Amino acid sequence: MPLQFASRLDNVETSAIRELFKLLGKPGIISFAGGFPDSAMFDVEGLREASQKALAEEPGGALQYGATEGYDPLRTQLAAFEQAKGVKDLGPQDLIVTTGSQQALDLLGKTLVSPGDKVIVEGPTFLATIQCFRLYGADLVSAPIDADGVQVDRLEALIAEHKPKFVYLIPTFGNPSGALLSLERRRRILELAVKYQVLIVEDDPYGDLYFTAAPPPPSLLALSDQVPGSREWLAHCGSMSKVLSPGLRVGWLVARPELLAKATMCKQFSDAHTSTFAQATAAQYLRSGRMPATLDHVRKVYAARALAMGQALQRELGDAVAFTQPQGGLFFWARLTGAGGAVRDAGEFAKKAIEQGVAFVPGAPFFAQQPDHSSFRLSFATADVGRIEEGMGRLGQAVRAAR
Ligand code: PMP
Repeated sequence: MPLQFASRLDNVETSAIRELFKLLGKPGIISFAGGFPDSAMFDVEGLREASQKALAEEPGGALQYGATEGYDPLRTQLAAFEQAKGVKDLGPQDLIVTTGSQQALDLLGKTLVSPGDKVIVEGPTFLATIQCFRLYGADLVSAPIDADGVQVDRLEALIAEHKPKFVYLIPTFGNPSGALLSLERRRRILELAVKYQVLIVEDDPYGDLYFTAAPPPPSLLALSDQVPGSREWLAHCGSMSKVLSPGLRVGWLVARPELLAKATMCKQFSDAHTSTFAQATAAQYLRSGRMPATLDHVRKVYAARALAMGQALQRELGDAVAFTQPQGGLFFWARLTGAGGAVRDAGEFAKKAIEQGVAFVPGAPFFAQQPDHSSFRLSFATADVGRIEEGMGRLGQAVRAAR
């Protein structure tokens, strides 16, 4: 007799991508499929010192149960981390610590979405968010993006039509799109939040990973003081995963007090609090002053890999693909053009690529509506420049094999 699972699970499918990942065990495969940062980039020495200090100086805090809202010294450090990026009037009480930013997204789904509620997301968007919001019964509406991020005129029309519970955006180096939302669009989105009294969720795990000399436009959170009334319509998810360590599972949520209170209540029923040991370690790390050098190093390494991938992709695949060179983050988002009779379907192309010993993720599952079957995502984070060039060479062979 099979188990009777909750009906909410009917809304969520296991991802098509997981099927593909099964093939990645094949020996010799060069994989650009994952979304992980490179383990070689972790500041192991700095984290060792931070964890030792946490145990030596604050064993009660680091090993005991703690407050659901988060460990106060970490909340203080995180508020300072955001302030340093231009966020004004933000104190430790304005954020809660979450178990990765994934938990912040889950708490937003849990606290805000009733079955059938509309939620607007970008097309394409982060796959785990699609699945998480659907688990709570969200009816997702997809807003199109281009190289400058979400198309604001279309977004406004969708907000007016669907009156969504909230709008979920990854404005800076999106996953999977790599797109960077322009400053002008950021301002307009904050104005829309006020005009339509609609909550905007800004998911920002990649904002620190920029490859340019100057930082990207400020986060919506940092810009909110320039658009009166917009701050209360904003929820901001941050993460230590991409720059420091995903295994720490330290993220945070900034939102207005009533939303933080409900999210805290739900978190209490879920994991009581984020690991105090991880929080004390993260707090010590931020206090140690090593973060700027770590960021500098990580940006340089990923920038070189992104550049190598763009050049090799152009050289090996030519007009069979179209893409925009990302200015930060971990991902290339590309489209098969079908030029000269080349392959157009990214799922079919992924199979050919595996045969040639290279893997990536087809783009269709990243769309909540109207999937683009010609799109695919490549991560440049975990392979060095030599492997990237070798991998792009194999991708070129896969294109020729699929002609
Ligand atoms: N949001 C986006 C857009 C992501 O790409 C990821 C990680 N892949 C997350 C949230 C979750 O990250 P974490 O829970 O490790 O902070």
